[in-house]
Amino acid sequence: MNLNALPPLRQVIAEHDLAARKSLGQNFLLDLNLTAKIARQAGDLSQCDVLEIGPGPGGLTRGLLAEGARRVLAVEKDTRCLPALEQIAEAAPGRLQVINADALELDPLTYLTPPIRVAANLPYNIGTELLVRWLTPPQWPPFWQSLTLMFQREVAERIIARPGSKAYGRLALLAGWRCEARIVMNLPPEAFTPPPKVSSAVVHLTALQGPRYPADAKTLEMVVARAFNQRRKMLRAALKGLAPDIEDRLIAAGIKPTDRAETVELEQFCALARQMQN
Ligand code: SAM
Repeated sequence: MNLNALPPLRQVIAEHDLAARKSLGQNFLLDLNLTAKIARQAGDLSQCDVLEIGPGPGGLTRGLLAEGARRVLAVEKDTRCLPALEQIAEAAPGRLQVINADALELDPLTYLTPPIRVAANLPYNIGTELLVRWLTPPQWPPFWQSLTLMFQREVAERIIARPGSKAYGRLALLAGWRCEARIVMNLPPEAFTPPPKVSSAVVHLTALQGPRYPADAKTLEMVVARAFNQRRKMLRAALKGLAPDIEDRLIAAGIKPTDRAETVELEQFCALARQMQN
């Protein structure tokens, strides 16, 4: 059997009794045109290994293989999905490896050969945690070239947010420091089975060669976390506990002590992180 001859996803779900489970964040994509479109947003896959988290019944997996991925490593926690995924592996000999594991516990690197791209319709309950992990590796450059990930629309907005917007905060700064991030697709709830309560969006993140501005990662993270913990306060108050001369350090970083975190650019936060190390 080849990929085109595989049964429609509705049939796969019925045959394998894959009633969606909320606890596993299961909102499936059953339209193969749509999953192929998402796979195309991930870029040229022909020379890449692709890491997919949560393949479920395999709609996006089929899209990634059909779009020419060299290899796909699919990590799925729900054992009920494995027979359906094995069927896909048989239709794409040597190109799909399925691992039954919790993505939060597994080190995928042992299974992958660079260059690596990540593409996933993520379970919403662990999406942000996985993204933060992929953005804060122990070393740089990261193991991946790009991430093409489905999020709730509201989370996607937080990833790409600019200063001055409500969505701007830790996630935007983290992503912006090391990546180019943009929303490449918007999806209404009806695109999924069952439909979630909220709209979704696909975010494509490309890794930069190095961080956009110099800063120590841990110091930057700490400063940003403190600043946004009290996002309505002026920074001289929000960061008061960090150093007795915090106002001088803010000024040296080009930030007005009366500014609030949500108006401060990434470049200035990086300058402040450097000031905190003096
Ligand atoms: N990719 C499929 C699709 O687009 O139709 C399914 C997406 S569904 C939103 C999320 C998938 O992630 C489910 O198949 C679920 O079982 C799986 N999942 C949930 N938690 C997981 C975890 N910790 N590790 C690996 N997979 C997980």
